Amino acid sequence: MTDPKDDGCIFCKIVAGQVPCFKLLEDDKTIAFMDINPVNPGHALAVAKGHWPTVDVIPPDVIAAVAQTAQKVAKAVVAELKPNGVNLLQANGAGAGQTVPHLHIHIMPRRAGDQVALNWEPKPGDMKEIEAVYKKLKAAL
Ligand code: AMP
Ligand code: ZN
Repeated sequence: MTDPKDDGCIFCKIVAGQVPCFKLLEDDKTIAFMDINPVNPGHALAVAKGHWPTVDVIPPDVIAAVAQTAQKVAKAVVAELKPNGVNLLQANGAGAGQTVPHLHIHIMPRRAGDQVALNWEPKPGDMKEIEAVYKKLKAAL
């Protein structure tokens, strides 16, 4: 089966070579390139070659390949840029901040005090509420 494509999708166009990118690497299922709106220098994307929008619809072997590509890029980021840390981020749906509906993992180098809005203070949850949601999810698995 050939991978799904979407003519209006910017990442499908990059995969097809119709739009340029700073390509880091490529294999049969994935491509990695620099993000053109970096949160910090070195911000890159590991992208599935096929047009699957989100984690709930992409085949397991393809998301596994995207994760492996993200790991390769993250290793290069750590070795070459020596950041204080790296976030891997993968958004699903507009409510999660996804702007390109074609599955990708961000590799984001982090610097102390960089003000990138990804971190939060943990607050204790309501155990009854946690348990109620846990039961629903457990039954679905
Ligand atoms: P998300 O908001 O998680 O869907 O991330 C989409 C990312 O794609 C954003 O960080 C954009 O800066 C990035 N992006 C959009 N268009 C391009 C492009 N042509 N080349 C590289 N990165 C892009
Ligand atoms: Zn696409």
